[in-house]
Amino acid sequence: VYVDGGVSRNPANDELIATYPYQTSDDVERMLDANSAAFRMWRATPMSERVIVYRRLATVLRDRTERLASVITAEMGKPIVAARAEVEKCAATIDWIAANGPAILADEPVPVDANDQVHVSYLPIGSILAVMPWNFPLWQVVRASGPIMLSGNGFILKHAPNVMGAAYALEEAYEAAGFPKGLFANLNSDNATVAHVIEDSRVAAVTLTGSMRAGAAVASTAARALKKSLLELGGSDAFIVLADANIELAVEAAIHARFQNSGQVCLAAKRFILERPIADQFTRKFVEAARTLKIGDPTDTSTQIGPMARKDLRDELHDQVERSLAEGATLLLGGKKVPGAGNFYEPTVLGDVAPGMTAFDEETFGPVAAIAIADDLEHAIELANTSDYGLGGNLWTSDTERAQRIARRLDTGGVFINGFSASNPRIPVGGVKKSGYGRELSHFGLREFTNAQAVWIR
Ligand code: NAP
Repeated sequence: VYVDGGVSRNPANDELIATYPYQTSDDVERMLDANSAAFRMWRATPMSERVIVYRRLATVLRDRTERLASVITAEMGKPIVAARAEVEKCAATIDWIAANGPAILADEPVPVDANDQVHVSYLPIGSILAVMPWNFPLWQVVRASGPIMLSGNGFILKHAPNVMGAAYALEEAYEAAGFPKGLFANLNSDNATVAHVIEDSRVAAVTLTGSMRAGAAVASTAARALKKSLLELGGSDAFIVLADANIELAVEAAIHARFQNSGQVCLAAKRFILERPIADQFTRKFVEAARTLKIGDPTDTSTQIGPMARKDLRDELHDQVERSLAEGATLLLGGKKVPGAGNFYEPTVLGDVAPGMTAFDEETFGPVAAIAIADDLEHAIELANTSDYGLGGNLWTSDTERAQRIARRLDTGGVFINGFSASNPRIPVGGVKKSGYGRELSHFGLREFTNAQAVWIR
């Protein structure tokens, strides 16, 4: 089917689930008016009442776990156990924001002069447009909207067209929790309309999670309209394993870090940089563990790897694998599309990868691990930093003092030592270089879309 709008198609069996024709321009007008009106009401709502609505939202999300998780699994193929965990992560984050956000957004006294009273207020700025990806259809949205809405802003979601079912299920959840009607609104439109919405005077700023290409387009529209943007873009995280690392634990973490969500994670480890003395041992164990991953029906609770979200994305990934092999990488595991229905791709491991090869230079958004060998620590750091991206990074060593010194030399928004990258509401998430700018979550995220207003009373 061709539809001018969102199309949900089950990536495990290719069946059409639903179509979501684009909103008309009148629909978009009404949505923007309603969102502005709801924003005016919400900004006047005391923080203590906003928090009550947040707590109810956490309850609504938990009460609807099965419904929401099955929408996620059906629309983008995430194994059901992980989809349930995604719903719980959203609820737990809303709880954390409700418990900690008010103090972070409270007026902050500034000692300037004994005779004067000075403080900074964190005020809302208006309706914020959020352009979101499909890989964590609920989590990405909650991660953005949680901090944005607590300070009193409105929220307009432009979700990825293949997960519009999740977008509408979220809108219903926010309404059921008691947010003013229209404060969390869906925009279902093409990208030209998105640009008009960014330019519209009823919209204050834009946040985008997605690819570099989408980020550059949206940020330049926002810049022309002199509006703030926040970009959470792709990543090609290094997973550095030094010679003194605990290899068993490192392999276990590496498998999760690369293959969770079928590898479709911005913060996934993508480039495994191994110090030469342990390279063979790590590689052998890693390939063996990847070989045993259970790939299949994502509604089955024992499945570890579901399908990729869309056929075109699987084609693109396979093309990256083939180009890498032509450039000199070696195939250690997988490297093929699974025949039959659905967008399954074999867990794949590429060896002998180096800068200049596709799997090193580009983001691989699927179950493909690239292994590169480093002569020593300096070489490992150099390889890790040889990337357009700078989202997260992983470092394995038994010397955690040394690890902290190394972390300061890694050009990334996060470094996870003896672990793997993960977001948590208490810490900022975001990148440097072409992984974007700005931070979500933590006090950084709570204040990103506020007006830090200086108030000086003489
Ligand atoms: P994508 O193709 O960039 O799409 C993301 C969103 O941007 C979709 O809603 C998409 O809608 C929209 N979009 C694309 N081009 C646009 C344009 N010119 N104007 C307005 N909107 C536009 O990315 P994806 O395939 O969904 O997601 C994968 C990418 O997201 C990866 O690079 C991944 O690393 C990144 N990601 C980053 C983070 C992070 O936290 N840093 C988290 C998750 C994912 P249409 O499809 O309708 O164009």
